[in-house]
Amino acid sequence: MEAAVDFSLSVEERQIRDTVRAFVEREVMPLEPDVLRNERAGRPALGPDVVRELQDKARKTGLWGINTPEEYGGAALGPIMSAIIAMELGRTFVPFVFGGTADNILYAGTEEQKRRYLIPTIEGERRSCFAITEPGAGSDARNIRARAVRDGAEWVINGEKTFITGGSEADFVMVFAVAEPYGVTCFLVDRDMGWTSEPIPTMGQWGPASLVFQDVRVPEENILGELGKGFELAMQWIGQGRYMIPARAIGSAERMLGMAIEYAKIRKSMGQAIAGYQAIQWMIADSQVEIEAAKWLTLYAAWRVQQGLDARHAASIAKLNGAVMANQVVDRVLQIHGGMGYTKELPIERWYRELRLLRIFEGTDEIQRRTIARNLIKGHARLGTIGE
Ligand SMILES: Cc1cc2nc3c(=O)[nH]c(=O)nc-3n(C[C@H](O)[C@H](O)[C@H](O)COP(=O)(O)OP(=O)(O)OC[C@H]3O[C@@H](n4cnc5c(N)ncnc54)[C@H](O)[C@@H]3O)c2cc1C
Repeated sequence: MEAAVDFSLSVEERQIRDTVRAFVEREVMPLEPDVLRNERAGRPALGPDVVRELQDKARKTGLWGINTPEEYGGAALGPIMSAIIAMELGRTFVPFVFGGTADNILYAGTEEQKRRYLIPTIEGERRSCFAITEPGAGSDARNIRARAVRDGAEWVINGEKTFITGGSEADFVMVFAVAEPYGVTCFLVDRDMGWTSEPIPTMGQWGPASLVFQDVRVPEENILGELGKGFELAMQWIGQGRYMIPARAIGSAERMLGMAIEYAKIRKSMGQAIAGYQAIQWMIADSQVEIEAAKWLTLYAAWRVQQGLDARHAASIAKLNGAVMANQVVDRVLQIHGGMGYTKELPIERWYRELRLLRIFEGTDEIQRRTIARNLIKGHARLGTIGE
């Protein structure tokens, strides 16, 4: 009987993983000191030229358009490989991603929208941002108040969005507003149509922005998808990332655990290396157990997407578990490093601040728990299944 469950990678998958790992070690990790210096001086972690140069180098190695369909020049490697590549990128805190990708919902555009928004985004010529959250509606996203009112062949948008990743740099936004009487609708809105942005300082390196729409006039043909069907698009956008967030965190946690093991072997206390103490060993062991659990939950969610199965429940489990795991691991790694862990000489405090966000954005821990419990209570998900 052929094995029904196979945890191994194919030869090709392993080659891609190894290529990404080598690229990250050779080209990206050496930038870590620059990133720390830049961020601590209040500058962007990487200048746009550095990012472009890295992405061009990666493109020559075939690392471009990881999850972009082949008809758009991408590698179409699929959800499992995308997750594995995210794990490799997560090994460094340099905020780098491979080029050649665009938000999944831009593929829902008309041919004209694809020409103006999707393709330039894939090519790296345009930058998008995704705006649903408002000051009065975060977890309760159905309660957004931004309004779009039809005026001839145009829609007039008024409202405020907050915590929008990339909102300071984007030159167009996929914004969600209530188009009376149809309901939540997604509009593609160029910055030069009149919205403004203001950066929001945070404890981590994520620099989201608040966006203001005051009588911003948008042509009818800039509606993405269908009038009144914006909420479904928003959930599709959020859904794509649910397993990618823990994937990147797994790489970070593994790298940090490696640092903690090395430090524990050389740091002496009370006559011996701290690696000899059970208190330290248990932190190391618990961390690896949690990382491995997160790895397989994440790959399972990615596998479900790849198989065309409903992945929402599995992705919520993976996101909740991965976000909590990453925060527990970084805390233990900091603890193992003692006072040094708390300094800015090491990057652990940076990871500590960055990983905290994982428990908040794209569905807080509490919202994932709510989803998981409601799926079980309502019978949308069942206990005792394996891959069904
Ligand atoms: C750095 C950063 C980047 C972001 N990027 C984007 C982006 O690009 N685009 C975008 O649209 N949004 C973005 N967000 C917004 C993010 O998705 C929201 O912050 C998140 O959904 C939580 O919403 P909130 O902040 O309004 O918290 P709230 O919804 O007010 O929640 C406050 C607390 O109450 C809990 N809570 C709320 N409802 C319930 C409930 N029913 N049951 C139990 N507990 C509940 C929450 O879990 C949380 O602990 C970003 C946020 C941050 C911080």
